[in-house]
Amino acid sequence: MNMIAHYLNGQLTQGHSTRKQAVYNPALGEPVAEVALAEPADVAAAVVAAKAAFPAWADMPPLRRARVLFKFKELLEQHQQELAALITGEHGKVHSDAMGEVARGLEVVEFACGIPHLLKGEYTEQVGCGVDSYSLRQPLGVVVGITPFNFPAMVPMWMFPVALACGNTFILKPSERDPSASLFIADLLTQAGLPAGVFNVLQGDKLAVDGLLTHPDVQAISFVGSTPIAQYIYETGARHGKRVQALGGAKNHMVVMPDADLEQTVDALMGAGYGSAGERCMAISVAVAVGNIANALVARLAERVKQLRVGHGMDDASEMGPLVTREHLAKVTGYVEKGVAEGATLVVDGRSLKVSGCETGFFLGGCLFDHVTPDMTIYREEIFGPVLAVVRVNSYAEAAELINNHAYGNGTAIFTRDGDAAREFVHKIQVGMVGVNVPIPVPMAFHSFGGWKASLFGDHHMHGPEGVRFYTRLKAVTSRWPTGIRAGAEFAMPTMK
Ligand code: NAD
Repeated sequence: MNMIAHYLNGQLTQGHSTRKQAVYNPALGEPVAEVALAEPADVAAAVVAAKAAFPAWADMPPLRRARVLFKFKELLEQHQQELAALITGEHGKVHSDAMGEVARGLEVVEFACGIPHLLKGEYTEQVGCGVDSYSLRQPLGVVVGITPFNFPAMVPMWMFPVALACGNTFILKPSERDPSASLFIADLLTQAGLPAGVFNVLQGDKLAVDGLLTHPDVQAISFVGSTPIAQYIYETGARHGKRVQALGGAKNHMVVMPDADLEQTVDALMGAGYGSAGERCMAISVAVAVGNIANALVARLAERVKQLRVGHGMDDASEMGPLVTREHLAKVTGYVEKGVAEGATLVVDGRSLKVSGCETGFFLGGCLFDHVTPDMTIYREEIFGPVLAVVRVNSYAEAAELINNHAYGNGTAIFTRDGDAAREFVHKIQVGMVGVNVPIPVPMAFHSFGGWKASLFGDHHMHGPEGVRFYTRLKAVTSRWPTGIRAGAEFAMPTMK
């Protein structure tokens, strides 16, 4: 069976790993490879490689670093079909969606290609007589990215293009459930001319993560994953003196106002609720129906969910693929059972779905709940599957209150023709990314991505200008070239006279 290894210092290696884990094709329910799991000696080797590569990479003019990324972008464009097929093979999402994932990652590479402009500092002439002041942004050193299974290419690309362009060296610890994309990317970076040790891939589990979190030579950690782990990463990393940005889970609500266009809203909910089998941190998992639109909304949604085409991700006819693992399928199915037990109305039940030719795959059909209430487990917790919950409320104010009281604050949206309601929503809602008639308001690469509340621990969002701030530290310089007039020693704080 194919063994998925580490990529350290420009070489594929199994290092000291004796432990391994099976990697599945979720559409077939069969193992297709094994991934090596790092031991402490592999963590040490990764950090040594990245630390050794740092001085020369950091000293390289930003324009030359950008040229490596331009070349990488070109290679990624040429090979995006293959990368998308690798993603579908281990994650299960449909190929067209995997292509979309690669495209969204590519946009961050495009952003990072502009790094000479982004790293320009600030300069003030004559802050005092003959004194000038300026500030610079410099790289941090060895930085780490720890990423989730649901975007094995895009989420790493939220991080490393900006980190590398800023002059840092990078260690990626991808999800052990779909690790192949990381090696494909490492190979393209090497082909693009990236020096050995600047980008490393360390495969592994908690042992690898803990080793990186506590290593004295790691300067910063970027994490994306579930909330309990994000909080753990933030607390542990901060305790060990590192800069940390840790993005967590989500429960994204879409408010459907009584004046919303029903067909547009249903289209939006189908894509945002069931695309990628609901395994997206920006998926809509709660539709909040305001006033008298609820009956029509649920009826139309039910028809559409029953028609969802679920199948192998490489089949062009499929709109939705399987869940990532057997364990995750069991977890999501457990939530459906819990929803029924707690009294929600299961309008569409996808549990009995069988996909012909893929009978042993990890499939669950689309599920739709109505009459969900805020006390229910399926409302409070992130399900991360193709399960949409409809909550009925009487007013906009009730809808906004629900969202503001929820523990998560990643994304949200309002569907309406009422500009006043939309403006109020944008202004007041306690969520990091907001859509107006846009169900999944993922910011473009030149803006930054991040949620609020339990969806993000740390101070910086990812990529865009926030990414440049995260991966650099500020140095302020005050400079004088004396002309020969000596003022003598000054013992009081210098002030402007
Ligand atoms: P996860 O938290 O299980 O794993 C994420 C990473 O953490 C993986 O690399 C994994 O190896 C590592 N990890 C897991 N358990 C660990 C532990 N006990 N100690 C140290 N490291 C550990 O998340 P997942 O299941 O891979 O991904 C799905 C989750 O990610 C969902 O909650 C989803 O909402 C979230 N997510 C959030 C965003 C966002 O932008 N906020 C984006 C994508 C995914």
